[in-house]
Amino acid sequence: MDKQYLDLMEKAKQYSTHYINNIHNMSAFPDELSIQNLSIFDENLPNQSSNMQDVLKLLYENGATATSACIGGRYFGFVTGGLLPIAHASQWITDTWNQNNALYVMSPISSKLESICEKWIIELFKLNKNSAIGLVTGSSNAIICALATARNHIYKKQGYDFVQNGMRNAPKINVVISEQAHVSVKTALTLLGFGKNDIQIAPVDEFGAIIPDKLPEIDSNTLLILQAGNVNGGSFDPINTLCDIAKEKGAWVHIDGAFGLWARTSKKQKYLVEGMEKADSFSTDAHKTLNAGYDCGIVICSDKEALTDTLSSRGEYLQPSENRDGMNYVTEMSRKSRGIILWSILKQLGKQGIEDLIDKLCENTKYFAEKLEEIGYTIVTPPTFNQFIIKAQNPNKTENILNHIQKSKVCWCGNSIWNKEFVIRLSVCSHSTTKSDIDKSLEIFKEAFETYK
Ligand SMILES: *Cc1c(COP(=O)(O)O)cnc(C)c1O
Repeated sequence: MDKQYLDLMEKAKQYSTHYINNIHNMSAFPDELSIQNLSIFDENLPNQSSNMQDVLKLLYENGATATSACIGGRYFGFVTGGLLPIAHASQWITDTWNQNNALYVMSPISSKLESICEKWIIELFKLNKNSAIGLVTGSSNAIICALATARNHIYKKQGYDFVQNGMRNAPKINVVISEQAHVSVKTALTLLGFGKNDIQIAPVDEFGAIIPDKLPEIDSNTLLILQAGNVNGGSFDPINTLCDIAKEKGAWVHIDGAFGLWARTSKKQKYLVEGMEKADSFSTDAHKTLNAGYDCGIVICSDKEALTDTLSSRGEYLQPSENRDGMNYVTEMSRKSRGIILWSILKQLGKQGIEDLIDKLCENTKYFAEKLEEIGYTIVTPPTFNQFIIKAQNPNKTENILNHIQKSKVCWCGNSIWNKEFVIRLSVCSHSTTKSDIDKSLEIFKEAFETYK
């Protein structure tokens, strides 16, 4: 291959190494100057080609300083997840290979490793052997895949052929979601043709978990959507109890476990998702808790045929094979071979490594919460897994504190509204967060707490 290409890749490696080397000294969020400097990108689309090295240099020199330090140890905003070294390295290899994961004939290696991932994920989550997985961009898409499967399956049970007859004359499906359901669940339901009037809301307790006694009526035409890990406070619905109620009636249960489903892999945390094997479908992210890097979502269905019946496509030019054709499990055809990356992580960490990662995130979260409480913060939702919410004595003070912390850029966290009150939300989800990262962050939390009334 030509020298220019190789030199360019060498440069990309240098820039990446430089970034990784600097990450622990970087501020958690870009400073004003770096953000203003982004105006350098405001130019007209060039007429002529330019030197590749120059483009990469322009990107690195003006882009790197305007990144959030998500691969560092002090980014606690949203639920971003860090980036494991093996994930990063295998992403490079995957990008270099540029394999299309739609069909086996397009990439035997992608097909092979996706099959292995399916087997390993089912084993890791202790699900029934006939389960299937699909690898998608993230939980938002995984939820769409799972709920479309649930919808078609429920109709089929009612003797209604949805694929033939469509939405217009379809009988009713009783959808039940939590008062605290993630926004992506609501979007998925809208996309799948469910209106607000089709949906019943299950009330939750003060931490955001569904109260079984207050669950709306469930029947065999019900699609019940549960949550393993509330995006704000991290609470888990009582999955075992709710699955028992739903399964007795013959309802379909989906669990949105974008980050929390991974509790299943740890002896200390698995109680949080006890009974999850009774559910019919699951959505989760490898790019959050597992630190796979974007984008790596997983849809899991305990009934393989139900998933592939809903999502597989056929066309004259497509050549199906006896081996796994990745496109039959998801909504996309052409896509990145996420299985290569996921396989690398599972192979490198092994069951023990995954458990250690989950336990470390949970321990760090508890430590963080304990120390914040010592400073004087109120813990609004306890750190059951890797998320929690705090507040100060009054909303004004909480807001001032958050501004102070965000301006300091020592660490970064965001806010939410909980029980109509302004709160600070923390998510500890990077493998690279150390006790000293938390201690350093606590100093700024303390300083802010003492600064405002
Ligand atoms: C993040 C999240 C989602 C959406 O996942 P994406 O990977 O961002 O698409 C859905 N549900 C919960 C509980 C989440 O935390």
